[in-house]
Parts: sequence; structure tokens; C-alpha cells
Amino acid sequence: MDMDTPEQPVDMRLSIDPLYNIIVCKDCCISLPSEWVSTHLRDRHGITATHGQVARFLSLENDAMTVEQVEEWRKIMWVGKAVENIPVIKGIRCNLCQHSVVGKNVMKNHFSKQHKNFKRKRYSEACKVQLVFYGRLHKYIQVEEEEDMEIDIDE
Ligand SMILES: [Zn+2]
Ligand SMILES: [Zn+2]
Repeated sequence: MDMDTPEQPVDMRLSIDPLYNIIVCKDCCISLPSEWVSTHLRDRHGITATHGQVARFLSLENDAMTVEQVEEWRKIMWVGKAVENIPVIKGIRCNLCQHSVVGKNVMKNHFSKQHKNFKRKRYSEACKVQLVFYGRLHKYIQVEEEEDMEIDIDE
């Protein structure tokens, strides 16, 4: 994902996902734990904003998801509704452990590391995913499919 969008937006370009209480940067299409928001705005978008200003901008009643909460969430979160303002892309899921990735080679690696004796083609399939956090919190979640979504199961 290209994080170096040279745009200088006038507002904070943030949204809050009401379902997960996650802050999303609409320019970068990525979610941010609340501790990262000020740094992200400064480093990526040249915007100076304190934690309190961000909370006011988003009209937060409670704190949005923190690093600690994200760490817990990403351990248990495999399939769910899409996070708002983050693109849904084509991915692959592993049916043995629910891990999801983007790219066949990444899944090949996953199988050679985690499921050596299983056939990748048999135990993985196409699905819709979102990259929800980056850096050390990097995580793809599988997006619950709507009825009209067409998914190729075979390769
Ligand atoms: Zn951003
Ligand atoms: Zn797996």
C-alpha cells in the first residue's frame, strides 16, 4: 500500500468505524489505533493535531480502539463485516487455520511453513479481504460476503 500520498487535506481526513470503533485514515485507507493517529497525521499528512482534537473532530464519546485493544482484536478477528472506508480486495483464505492473505505466493509460504503435508489448492480458497492495520499490527481480515458477491472458488 502506498502510504506516501502527497495530499495536504484541510480537514483531518479521519473517520470512525461505528461497528468496530476503529479510526480510519480516509486518505490512506487504513485503520489506526488511537495512539498512532497524531503521529500518522503529522508524518503522513503534515497535520498537527492532539489526541483531544482528534477525539473532538470525530465526536468520540469513548476512546477509539487502542494499540492494546487492536492486539487482542487481531488475534480473534478473522471474518466480519467490512470496516468503512477501507477497500475490499481479493484475497485467499486458509481453511485449515483461517489465516488470510493477498497473493498466491504468500499462501504458498504459509502452507510450507504451517501445513507442510496439506495441499494448498484443496485447503485454501478465494475470498474478500481488507488490510486493516499496517506496520507491526498488519492484518488482513476476511470480509463477510454479501449475496451478490461473485467468488471464484477454483483456481
Ligand atoms: Zn493517512
Ligand atoms: Zn493456515
